[in-house]
Amino acid sequence: MKIVIAGAGIGGLVAALSLHAAGLRDVRVLEAVPRIRPFGAGVNVQPNAVRELAGLGLAESVADAGTELTELSYHNHLGQRIWQEPRGRASECDWPQLAVHRGVFQSLLVDAVRDRLGPDAITTDARVTGFTPLDGGGTEVLLAHRSGDRPDSRLHADVLVGADGLRSAVRRTLYPEEGEPRSNGTTVWRGVNRSTPFHGGRSMVVMGDGRWKAVVYPLAGRPDADGLVLVNWAVSRAATQRDPGQDPAQEPPPGDGFPGAVSDWTCGDLRLDDLPGGGGDLDALR
Ligand SMILES: Cc1cc2nc3c(=O)[nH]c(=O)nc-3n(C[C@H](O)[C@H](O)[C@H](O)COP(=O)(O)OP(=O)(O)OC[C@H]3O[C@@H](n4cnc5c(N)ncnc54)[C@H](O)[C@@H]3O)c2cc1C
Repeated sequence: MKIVIAGAGIGGLVAALSLHAAGLRDVRVLEAVPRIRPFGAGVNVQPNAVRELAGLGLAESVADAGTELTELSYHNHLGQRIWQEPRGRASECDWPQLAVHRGVFQSLLVDAVRDRLGPDAITTDARVTGFTPLDGGGTEVLLAHRSGDRPDSRLHADVLVGADGLRSAVRRTLYPEEGEPRSNGTTVWRGVNRSTPFHGGRSMVVMGDGRWKAVVYPLAGRPDADGLVLVNWAVSRAATQRDPGQDPAQEPPPGDGFPGAVSDWTCGDLRLDDLPGGGGDLDALR
């Protein structure tokens, strides 16, 4: 059985590894970008997802590339605690909660797919534009290519898995009336920077309210020679807080300080104004 997966993101790559582990051998992943590069910032891999990675023999490598979080706490904008709970193995779970850089996580999965399914299992520069179900079974997958003057192409699949992200072409073919994803108007700024460890070093801190919110957690628990760890931060602003004349797509990124209201927030030993501009380099995560 020939299985084609559209999209070499986290979902598509884990699907390929799981199908291979189930004994299916003809699995091919098609990725739109010509070269897979480690984009993004932090992602939290929850215990139920770590269980799947453990089944694939990959949980340890992901844990080594990231950090285990043991606590989640919510605070108001003054830093006063509203809620706190243990996470992962610190609660009653058998598996940890892992914070890891999305790009590093994806690279690790790409390596595992090429190692187990073969060096040609992932084809880049192959954007799925749609598919046509065939009368006799299976489907014809339609492809477009960016580099050179390669013409559009097509290939046969018995099964097509759509793992092609937010603007999925597979989904659009199935549900053409749905249209583009709708925005709720929230703007999120995010980054990875070096900072002193906070709240014991394994905590995810959420601060703010329905207008402004900050989420901060460590990405690599081991401090460097200066005692600093890599920290992921994300700041969100609800649509209600935006200047109505401002086009969010044209808004400049924050420079040395956080945007708007959150710049002077503190929460115990976590100071938000310490974070931006600290220089978070990806190499330190590898
Ligand atoms: C570049 C990037 C950076 C991200 N950064 C973060 C982050 O920092 N923090 C976070 O929490 N989440 C981030 N996300 C989202 C997060 O990775 C996903 O929400 C989550 O991992 C679910 O993964 P997914 O495989 O469903 O989708 P995605 O991770 O979005 O992967 C979809 C993949 O499909 C490819 N693709 C898209 N259209 C086609 C097509 N037509 N044909 C073939 N391939 C196609 C994309 O290039 C991508 O590689 C990011 C996603 C992307 C694409």
